[in-house]
Amino acid sequence: MNEQDIQKRMNYLVNILNQYNYEYYVLDNPTVDDSEYDNLIKELENLENKYPAFVRNDSPTKKVGAFLKTDLETIVHDSPMMSLGDVFNKEELREFDDKIRKVTPYYTYVVELKIDGIASTAHYENGLFTLGATRGNGTVGENITKNMLTIENLPKVLNDHVTIEVRGEVYMKKSVLTELNQAREKQGLPLFANPRNAAGGSLRQLDASITKMRKLNQFAYTIVNPQAYGITSQLDALKYLQELGFTVNPYFKHCQNIEEVIDAISYYDDLRKTLDYATDGIVIKVNEFGLYDEIGYTVKVPKWAIAYKFPAEMVTTKLKDIIFTVGRTGKIIPNAVLDPVYIAGTLVSRATLNNEDFIKTRDIRVGDFVRVRKAGEIIPEVVDVDLSRRSPDLVPFTMPLTCPKCHSPIQKDNSDVLYYCLNPECGGRILEGIIHFASKPAMDIDGLGEKQIEQLYQMGYLTDATDIYLLKNYQEELLTIERFGKKKVENLLKAIEDSKNNSLDRFIFGLGIRFIGAKAAKVLAKTYDSIEDVSKARYEELLALDDFGEVMAKSIVDYFANPVHLELINKFISLGVNPQKTKQNEDQKLLGMTFVLTGTLETFSREEASSLIESLGGKTSSSVSKKTTYVLAGKEAGSKLTKAQELGIKIINEEEFKQML
Ligand code: NAD
Repeated sequence: MNEQDIQKRMNYLVNILNQYNYEYYVLDNPTVDDSEYDNLIKELENLENKYPAFVRNDSPTKKVGAFLKTDLETIVHDSPMMSLGDVFNKEELREFDDKIRKVTPYYTYVVELKIDGIASTAHYENGLFTLGATRGNGTVGENITKNMLTIENLPKVLNDHVTIEVRGEVYMKKSVLTELNQAREKQGLPLFANPRNAAGGSLRQLDASITKMRKLNQFAYTIVNPQAYGITSQLDALKYLQELGFTVNPYFKHCQNIEEVIDAISYYDDLRKTLDYATDGIVIKVNEFGLYDEIGYTVKVPKWAIAYKFPAEMVTTKLKDIIFTVGRTGKIIPNAVLDPVYIAGTLVSRATLNNEDFIKTRDIRVGDFVRVRKAGEIIPEVVDVDLSRRSPDLVPFTMPLTCPKCHSPIQKDNSDVLYYCLNPECGGRILEGIIHFASKPAMDIDGLGEKQIEQLYQMGYLTDATDIYLLKNYQEELLTIERFGKKKVENLLKAIEDSKNNSLDRFIFGLGIRFIGAKAAKVLAKTYDSIEDVSKARYEELLALDDFGEVMAKSIVDYFANPVHLELINKFISLGVNPQKTKQNEDQKLLGMTFVLTGTLETFSREEASSLIESLGGKTSSSVSKKTTYVLAGKEAGSKLTKAQELGIKIINEEEFKQML
């Protein structure tokens, strides 16, 4: 690959991983499994190490979590909530230990189960719970005080009148998730992929009564600024948390060295299979707090702790067939049809095979015995083939040359991995497209879930998403369909009517344009007045939008260059769909302003100040120009300050900045 291709690949990885982060952290609805995500992020990290000049500021390797869900109030954390580095084998654990030993030979470890939930923080004043927040992007989280109040085992009054901030993991029990998913299936709602996404989706509800119904729990594991309470080790912190009334996971262990940690792995791997909550590994922390600053931090993770991720449980079964699903963007995904088998407690008969390369590099053939695991403990994935059991007559896999649904030509995308059906009228794409259009993050049409849409599609009432707005003409017919009672039909038709005036960003997102997620749709809806204006936007103009890269700009231009799509939009409009321009969020008080930060700030790190500015609609830049609105100058500000003075840009200090907020 030449440098241009490498940069193109890196841009692609940043865009696609940011999209996956958004789906995972904000929508609580991942579309790829964790191992695929982990492989892509490793590839990006390697390329960034080799080609630092191409590293983008918005790279997911530099950020904890993802963008914030804007409909919840935001909270700036007093001290950052970081992620954890991860290792997958004993050698990597020893390498982690080697780095610590270079700093000091005197340390021990505390090992804890890594609970697969959502990181949260809880503030107490004089022993009373006052504020709860999510990790968010590590610097700014979402205010979930009302939701945390519904967590039964989270103490609201402590056993001591102490003012303290406690961090822990909010999780959903496996048994609760199974019940919840069963109920959602009946209602035609999409299922939660794993307990972590279920906990996230439940915790970040505007309506806390929904959180209450989801029966969440919490394990506490950290105190912010523990030394202030005379606590100098993780062991003492866990003990103190218990004394205060928190639930601490009981299976922590004190290990004298890394070999003791390694010896404990098999105990934890056996133990976790017996528990009613999901764990995806163990967390290994240096016990002595006094060493933390010396061992240090990266921008994203502490260097004194690491997560060891457990290998997923694997089972062998027969691959009966390979079938294909066609997504709304035309993405063709091969899926395994398996002899049903139990993995981690549930019966599995389908598993993803990811893409053509995945099947070919593992030489997976129909009739083979394959090993299957549950990625993230829920989504099943074929791992490899047991070649010793292969029958000689099995034929190698070949990708179909045409779309398995509409038989029109298929083509590989830029990543050269995935095939796409290019036919916008493809039945498979259309069905997925309608489901996406009506879904919660898009047009949010209550009563029109996956099951109902499939039913209406098969019966011919829905041939594309515009037909949703013609359903009112078939009221009588709808009443004769199974599961469509009188009240349901009335509610459905009302929800459809109401959706006509949805916001422009929901409508744009609902169109299912490739690479245009909900966040990009919001940017478009803030910039343009109507869908007609978006359709006329030029490539260069789109490229200049916040967070828009070449892939996204091109995707918009290509979408609206297709007459079939223009016809679809016209049809929506003629049926009365009138998406409303997104009003500016009142919280966006720094909208339109560009800040340059220089010098050392006292109360914020640079990163915290930048996140804060961005969360309030402002932008930050690394260099002073005429476009700069304010230069925020801390102690020992350097050449940027001089440049600002030369250009006559307004300079503010930290106090003025705080007042501005
Ligand atoms: P992480 O979940 O791997 O580790 C950090 C978190 O562990 C902490 O924030 C904390 O919440 C939690 N934790 C649980 N028990 C703990 C304990 N005892 N002590 C301390 N912390 C504990 O890191 P992350 O940054 O939240 O997420 C990265 C992971 O998410 C990756 O494995 C990745 O595969 C997955 N991911 C997947 C997708 C996708 O689309 N499938 C997208 C983004 C991220």
